[in-house]
Amino acid sequence: MAQRLRQWVGHQRFIYNAKVDEDRYFAGMRLSMLARGRTAAEAATPLDRAYAQFRGETTPWLGEVPSQVLRIGAERWFEGKQRQLKGLARAPRRRNRLNFDSVRVSSELFEFRELDEPQGDLRHELVLGNDKFGFGSLPFTAHRPYEVPKSLTLRCTGGQWFVSFSYEHAAPKGFVARNEEELAYELDLLDGPALETRTLGLDRNVADNCLATSDGRFYALSAVQKARIARKAVGAKRHQRRLARQEKGSANSRKTRDRLARKLAYKREVLRDFSHQTSHDLLESKANDAGVPQLLVLEALKVGNMTARPKARQDETGRWLRNGAASKAGLNRAILSSAWGRIAEQLGYKAARRNVLVLQVPAAYSSQECSRCGHTHPGNRDAQRFACQRCGLEAHADTNAARIIAGRGIGMVRDQKVVVKARKRVAYRRRATNAGLESPDVPVEGGVSRDEAKADIAQCPRKQEGATTTAPSGV
Ligand SMILES: [Zn+2]
Repeated sequence: MAQRLRQWVGHQRFIYNAKVDEDRYFAGMRLSMLARGRTAAEAATPLDRAYAQFRGETTPWLGEVPSQVLRIGAERWFEGKQRQLKGLARAPRRRNRLNFDSVRVSSELFEFRELDEPQGDLRHELVLGNDKFGFGSLPFTAHRPYEVPKSLTLRCTGGQWFVSFSYEHAAPKGFVARNEEELAYELDLLDGPALETRTLGLDRNVADNCLATSDGRFYALSAVQKARIARKAVGAKRHQRRLARQEKGSANSRKTRDRLARKLAYKREVLRDFSHQTSHDLLESKANDAGVPQLLVLEALKVGNMTARPKARQDETGRWLRNGAASKAGLNRAILSSAWGRIAEQLGYKAARRNVLVLQVPAAYSSQECSRCGHTHPGNRDAQRFACQRCGLEAHADTNAARIIAGRGIGMVRDQKVVVKARKRVAYRRRATNAGLESPDVPVEGGVSRDEAKADIAQCPRKQEGATTTAPSGV
């Protein structure tokens, strides 16, 4: 079964790459036609999901997989191309085994079946393939109701196959999503104690890799998970050394690489699970024993800055000094393994579904400030204990910091400083000289027919295509 699936991955990748090549060829042709003074309409080349032109006498093996697998290869390229045309990404590139390791299948090629189990636990089964290419099933336990997706993705990582799919959550009846400003306005109408009980502050402790809430709860990985992560890190190092000694591309090195990937995958999966459980629990459990929180306040940390390498240091004679890079490396590991960024991101979209406001506040001195009287002094804190030197408040240092953060969030609401954030668009823009040629308002049909192109592609070596694409040709 695994071998068959690998074949599906390879065939889907082949179609994807063929579309990439075809597109580059068309781009070059369009440029040269425009350079010869033809109008944009005359120089238009096909832009579609067609893939039948790649099946022929030289590629009889394409018939060994269901045509849906090939079709989705073209579709995956087309989605990438659309992203490029919208200015959201670079042009789709040729992919290889390492960066195209999954196959997406449509609903014609899979089916979910319910199995009858006398014990009551509902077992399900995922059946893959169709009448002609059926090849197996995968039993699983559904832990919550799910909808059958339109497509699913099968990916091989470290010699193991994973199935993933997603479907849209239907909003509950009567749900109207509100933006940050509207939510903050509603919260500002509450009186002091009411707002306080509905607010939850979060403090992140990097050294202990745990998360503290302003109502005294803590979230951390279990001791068993931490021990396993540490053990697997040791194992991964051993495999890395072994891999370095093995002959590249040999069967043994492939085996080692798979084992190495599985060692590294454990930590990733544990942290993913942890961040989902934590973000869900923060939104669903009662804050301050009142109700589910309406306002979550996080410390705004620039993870990128904190994980940057410390500067190299020299004394007057030019001798290199210790710059603390080794200890910083340990801290970096702790920051990254605390999965903070992911928890913040998941809180963002999970809160939006529930009309809960999430704010980020500066965390400066939150570990030294007293949450009762506001006295700020480094002496207030002694490791994990917080003891205020002025009013005598005693608390867990992280809980106190989380309360400070909650208070700063409330301050933002009261001062009406919450504004709607502009949606961030991550975009690569094409250089201005090329932009007009790839823009979507160029008519896509007409000009060059695919049959002419096919004949040309067969004759034209790829290197020349590249040359014509990059030449500006005076446009
Ligand atoms: Zn105090």
